[in-house]
Amino acid sequence: MDIDLSSGDSAFRDEVRCFLKDNLTAAIRDGSARTPSVFTEPDIGQAWNDVLYRKGWLGYQWPVEYGGTGWSPVQRYIFEKECAMAGAPNLTVLGLKLVAPVIWTFGTEEQKRFYLPRILSGEDYWCQGFSEPGAGSDLAALQCRAVRDGDRYILNGSKIWTTHAHHANRMFCLVRTDPGAKKQAGISFLLVDMELPGISVRPILTIAGDHEVNQVFLENVNVPAEDRVGQEGEGWTIAKFLLENERGGSCHAPKLGYDLDRLEEVARHESDGQGGVMAGDAGWKRKMAGARLRVQALEMIELKIVSELAKGRKPGPQTSLTKLLASNLRQEIDLLAVDLHGYAGLQLNSERPLYGPDAPPPVHSHDAQLATPRYLNSRAWTIFGGTNEVQSGIIARSVLGL
Ligand SMILES: Cc1cc2nc3c(=O)[nH]c(=O)nc-3n(C[C@H](O)[C@H](O)[C@H](O)COP(=O)(O)OP(=O)(O)OC[C@H]3O[C@@H](n4cnc5c(N)ncnc54)[C@H](O)[C@@H]3O)c2cc1C
Repeated sequence: MDIDLSSGDSAFRDEVRCFLKDNLTAAIRDGSARTPSVFTEPDIGQAWNDVLYRKGWLGYQWPVEYGGTGWSPVQRYIFEKECAMAGAPNLTVLGLKLVAPVIWTFGTEEQKRFYLPRILSGEDYWCQGFSEPGAGSDLAALQCRAVRDGDRYILNGSKIWTTHAHHANRMFCLVRTDPGAKKQAGISFLLVDMELPGISVRPILTIAGDHEVNQVFLENVNVPAEDRVGQEGEGWTIAKFLLENERGGSCHAPKLGYDLDRLEEVARHESDGQGGVMAGDAGWKRKMAGARLRVQALEMIELKIVSELAKGRKPGPQTSLTKLLASNLRQEIDLLAVDLHGYAGLQLNSERPLYGPDAPPPVHSHDAQLATPRYLNSRAWTIFGGTNEVQSGIIARSVLGL
């Protein structure tokens, strides 16, 4: 694998760097840096989306015909890496990376024309209604029922852990249209307007006190049949396509490396309690070196996947490997931050947000204030998008052939 950039790609990287220097404002960067939850809050995320939208770069993974950049897999990786290293917020994946490819791959012309531009413009904000109480890892056990009634479906059931459902005006969801069929075969994929009568959203607070996830209740909700994507019963095929995009093809290592750099910088000033600084502590240095090596190994795997994509091949179940490794590293690095700050890292403010003029003042420093809420929230990494155990099962079966 050749990991040197071509001269064209180097020029592209310089162009991205220049753009980030001029357009990534301090307010957006600070908002991103001081967000303890997994997802960026819409005020910060949308502000960054708008900047990229105006530049024409928001659809950086989209085909040109739908308003995307048409960049190569290498350019997309460079863009994500430069954004991560500049401290840009994570883009909200639900519309841009999850439902958009489903719509342009399986959707009708009308669905493409209506929904895709609204994702880019920020008019629509999406949430994902897959999991249910009793159907998470075993997603095909889902029970949310959609009964066909003329040109509509009547939905009854509930969805859980629905990230940002309280902000979203649209939800893509899996519903059971045929309870008599084999469980995977009886599922369909619907696009649901969150304003429809019969939908209610109940918050679930995370262990850190953040409101990120919800339970969504659907009671006799009338959804036009034209908002079904694909054929009736094709929902499982579409869900597998979407989950492959959710688990991989992303660029975790540079963001993890950026966070390690930040820890290294803070450790130069943070006392070790014995007259020195944490950066000089042998135990700390060993842990940092271990994490750094694992991040580099992850980046090699991510680059291998980019290289496969560049040759027109699909990454397939290898994306489970990057999801697994990145999730473990995310938790390892967030634990290092708690370690680094000692007592000061144990504060847990209940007020949100931790950025902006109304943020509660930190006891010691902003980095210390973030350590515990981040650590607690990052427990979710080894659960959402498929748990570690489920990813390990996929790797065992599909990658290692066990
Ligand atoms: C913060 C957060 C955000 C989320 N956001 C969304 C969202 O926006 N939309 C959405 O639809 N879902 C979302 N989820 C749900 C997430 O996808 C599920 O929580 C996840 O798939 C696990 O399902 P479960 O919670 O039902 O746990 P279960 O499936 O009940 O798992 C319980 C335990 O059993 C283990 N287990 C289960 N099956 C196996 C197996 N086959 N082999 C080995 N071990 C197994 C699991 O690893 C786990 O430890 C989110 C979850 C979290 C925590």
